[in-house]
Amino acid sequence: MDRKTEILKEFWGFDSFRPLQDEIIDSVLNGKDTLALMPTGGGKSLCFQVPALVEDGVCLVISPLIALMKDQVKNLRKRGIKADAVFSGMHYKEIDRIIDNAVYGDTKLLYVSPERLQTDILKERIKKMNVSLLAIDEAHCVSQWGYDFRPAYLNIPEFRKLIPYTPLLALTATATPDVVDDIQEKLAFKPEAGIFQKSFGRSNLSYSVFQEENKRVKLFDILSKVKGSGVVYAGTRRKTKDIAVYLYRKGISAEFYHAGLTPDQRSKKQDDWISGKIRIMVATNAFGMGIDKPDVRVVVHMDLPNNLEAYFQEAGRGGRDGKKSYSVLLYSPKDKSTLEKQYEQSFPESGEIKRVWQALGSKYQLAIGAGKGDSFDFDLIPFCETYSLDIVKTHSALKILEQDGWLTLSEAVHLPPTVKFIVEKEALYDYQLKNKKLDKPIRRILQTYQGGYNRLIPLKNMGRLAGSLKWSQEHLIKALEILHRDEIIEFRPAKDKPQITFLRERRGANDLQLNKERYDFRKERHFFRMNKAISYAETPICRSKQLLAYFGETESDACGICDVCTGRNQSEFKGDEFERLKTKILRLLKRENLNTEEILEAFAPKWEVKLLKVIQYLYEEGILLMDKEDKFSLGKE
Ligand code: ADP
Ligand code: MG
Repeated sequence: MDRKTEILKEFWGFDSFRPLQDEIIDSVLNGKDTLALMPTGGGKSLCFQVPALVEDGVCLVISPLIALMKDQVKNLRKRGIKADAVFSGMHYKEIDRIIDNAVYGDTKLLYVSPERLQTDILKERIKKMNVSLLAIDEAHCVSQWGYDFRPAYLNIPEFRKLIPYTPLLALTATATPDVVDDIQEKLAFKPEAGIFQKSFGRSNLSYSVFQEENKRVKLFDILSKVKGSGVVYAGTRRKTKDIAVYLYRKGISAEFYHAGLTPDQRSKKQDDWISGKIRIMVATNAFGMGIDKPDVRVVVHMDLPNNLEAYFQEAGRGGRDGKKSYSVLLYSPKDKSTLEKQYEQSFPESGEIKRVWQALGSKYQLAIGAGKGDSFDFDLIPFCETYSLDIVKTHSALKILEQDGWLTLSEAVHLPPTVKFIVEKEALYDYQLKNKKLDKPIRRILQTYQGGYNRLIPLKNMGRLAGSLKWSQEHLIKALEILHRDEIIEFRPAKDKPQITFLRERRGANDLQLNKERYDFRKERHFFRMNKAISYAETPICRSKQLLAYFGETESDACGICDVCTGRNQSEFKGDEFERLKTKILRLLKRENLNTEEILEAFAPKWEVKLLKVIQYLYEEGILLMDKEDKFSLGKE
């Protein structure tokens, strides 16, 4: 057995690697830059976790979501692997200690959120760190061509220069061909990189699109026919609740889920759904990340997402166990105008962006020239209420500020309360003598956390600490607050709010320069992706073929199980009619350019209506071009 397989067995208990894991790991171990394209659930994490254990030193992992980082760190530790994470909102001392452990200790994997890469502390100490591998998870985030661009990812190439001999592994589950190229360029891939792509085809997943006026009735119909666990995605928080109630009243076990619920509510609902206590989860797109439930039989979208990357990820949560499953999109022409409206709102004017910027300045009282690198709690809704701002537009404005590199927003994270003693031992002793009541918690903390005198102590279990004093938690918190006020300790209460981090020195709204070119570019890309999603819903071609073509697999066969292939689609095309007409039109145009009339003449009259649809489709897709005389010719391809 080779070393990597031994490690797989020893730490994970798995007998063999899945397709491509092997090859990817070898490529990394041979010191090559490597790109791994694998669908969600394909097992990307092991592709850097195993090499991390094979080699000496630390594997640095860049990941965009704090929740996912924490999850992975927890899982690794459970297996006895030393792992840590550094992200915004953590106390400086804590970051300091963790990075030190990576330099001098035996940390094997260090997860870092991308905006931390430009901090001096990391840039300085990385030079002393023995970094075996730089892994970039969700690597599509580095590309402005992609649907989930995160500007902090652009710190990676600069950062990489500090460890020029370390190989890089980029991983993603959703990348169109243009994004794949861009990733390699942006991450400064070295020549002779290894590129590995697992097909995104899912032979057990039947995709369908149904044109429906009354979506709820159709939903009920689907959930009555397909047995087993399911997810229903809806576009707004409000709808998730309404639909769950509707289903519940009709006798289907359902719950709703969105980011506005408390962490406790969310984890309870999620657990109930995973264990099967609840059959259907009605959710916004906040649901599903990092959830690994194999037996999801049906995923229904009540609203069309504004890009196929998101649709593919969400629909792909069905049938991970390889058994037959259904992913259904309920579509009505109204969805198109909804998306178009959202598109408008996603790109507010610069005046509106400046207003949001100004409000942030007042809220955090940032002086001009200060604020770089500072993180604060941030809650969108109260913020908008305080400054009378429109929520949707403010959200879009923040996104634009983020994409332009002014700030980053992270999701809510739970951080435990921390305590640090800030007086000399004698002074503390003095204080204990004078304050008999507060002597108790001081002694208990110092006993519980050995060697805790000079360091930052995360109080991970307040309940137990309070219990051991026979106090209530509130009582303990009061005591800590008094100690803080008396400048004996520095006490920071627990946090569970999203964080906003300012990335540049504060400027006045008038000096806030937004990059117009980039703004226009992203607007154009957004428009492009949105239209691709609409076209998916409206085009009667094998759904699987359409999705795969979008991700660059142009040679796939018709799946045989989607609504189009099985003829369940209510559009007038039967079987492979659409494909046949398309092929014939293309053949005609290969010979000479023709106008619509001339094309129609080449077919029997009964095909007219269908031909017009096919021609329109081919034209909109850019497969056909039209010249000045209204004649069609073949486009680039
Ligand atoms: P991805 O990041 O590609 O979405 P993950 O790395 O989260 O996927 O892995 C998905 C699941 O597959 C995890 O539960 C993981 O333990 C499991 N898995 C990965 N590789 C193997 C393997 N070789 N054998 C068995 N299970 C595996
Ligand atoms: Mg992953």
